Amino acid sequence: MNHPVAIVGAGVSGLICGVVFAERGYRATIFAKEIAQQTTSGAAAALWFPYDVEPAGKVIPWALETFRVLVDLAHDFESGVSMIELRQFSRSQEIQIPDWAIPLAACRLSAVATAEPARRGGCRRAGGSQGKRLDTARRLQHFISGFVLNVPLMDTTIYLDYLAMRFLKAGGEINANVCFEQLEEIDQQFDLVINCAGIGARELVHDFDLEPHRGQVAIVPKIKDVSYAVVCDDAPLMYAIPRRNDCVFGGTNDLSDDFAADPATTARIVAECSRSLKIDKPNVLAERVGLRPYRKSGVRLERAHLVDGRTVVHSYGHGGSGFTLSWGCAREVVDLARL
Ligand SMILES: Cc1cc2nc3c(=O)[nH]c(=O)nc-3n(C[C@H](O)[C@H](O)[C@H](O)COP(=O)(O)OP(=O)(O)OC[C@H]3O[C@@H](n4cnc5c(N)ncnc54)[C@H](O)[C@@H]3O)c2cc1C
Repeated sequence: MNHPVAIVGAGVSGLICGVVFAERGYRATIFAKEIAQQTTSGAAAALWFPYDVEPAGKVIPWALETFRVLVDLAHDFESGVSMIELRQFSRSQEIQIPDWAIPLAACRLSAVATAEPARRGGCRRAGGSQGKRLDTARRLQHFISGFVLNVPLMDTTIYLDYLAMRFLKAGGEINANVCFEQLEEIDQQFDLVINCAGIGARELVHDFDLEPHRGQVAIVPKIKDVSYAVVCDDAPLMYAIPRRNDCVFGGTNDLSDDFAADPATTARIVAECSRSLKIDKPNVLAERVGLRPYRKSGVRLERAHLVDGRTVVHSYGHGGSGFTLSWGCAREVVDLARL
């Protein structure tokens, strides 16, 4: 085919759009200010779970499509994708299992021992020995309700490089340190432009519907006996996500543009995660900050035209779910580009 396409952005959205176009025979070139690990995507915990994104009617189908791709990728060790047991808790109220989670075999955790999946007909119980489960129940007993399901986890330290390599292998080209003030600056040889600029779209296309939902995490060493992810969305937001070589402790979600890590916030995150897991406070290996590109009117995934008449497909505003929606959105971007 050899149709040239320019993709702005090398976070998870831009890289996956790049892979999908390049593997379908397009001559795909990525242009980006920052690449992979340096982007917001590089700061993410990167668990599959719809969170802090609108509108639900579109988000859930994109998320479920992405889920299926990620389940396949989890068979490839090199991808950095694996399946993990997610234990989603509440400290304050009876948690509802979302409708979309029921076909994925989500299972309520009992209120007494919140880490113990309730034994109900048709509910597939998460793995682990009885001894381990009781240990977990003791650890997490201050949560009042929860549910469990198996979801894909993308270890960003591996996955983003895997995507970049897969894109390059398919014939793609990456140009780093390129910052556009407007999309019309892109070379005229590209008559198709894909905008995956994340929060950068605020300035790039003057979209002031975008809000930076700042997230800070602490990277700590692997924690003995914690092989499942623990998430509690009640304030204070708390999650502990074990990866292949370390563990991500989170988190925060504040309206802010501040990229600097705040040491007091890191201390608060580590204290809350350690309290929840009933472990001694671990050393902090690194702190990361990213700006979730939340868009008040919902993800912008649409075909439009630049001032000079060229076709552009926008795909940004994925909020706290860029990884969760990525393959579903990229497939729709390609469909829109081919109209
Ligand atoms: C702490 C934290 C935890 C998270 N956890 C999860 C999670 O568990 N699961 C999940 O699904 N999501 C999670 N997210 C959200 C997820 O990280 C984002 O939705 C996702 O990274 C957005 O990806 P993106 O590719 O659209 O944007 P980004 O990763 O921000 O990439 C944008 C790209 O565009 C480039 N760019 C921007 N402006 C310009 C310009 N003018 N010129 C050239 N290049 C430009 C940037 O350099 C960059 O390459 C989390 C986010 C944070 C901060």
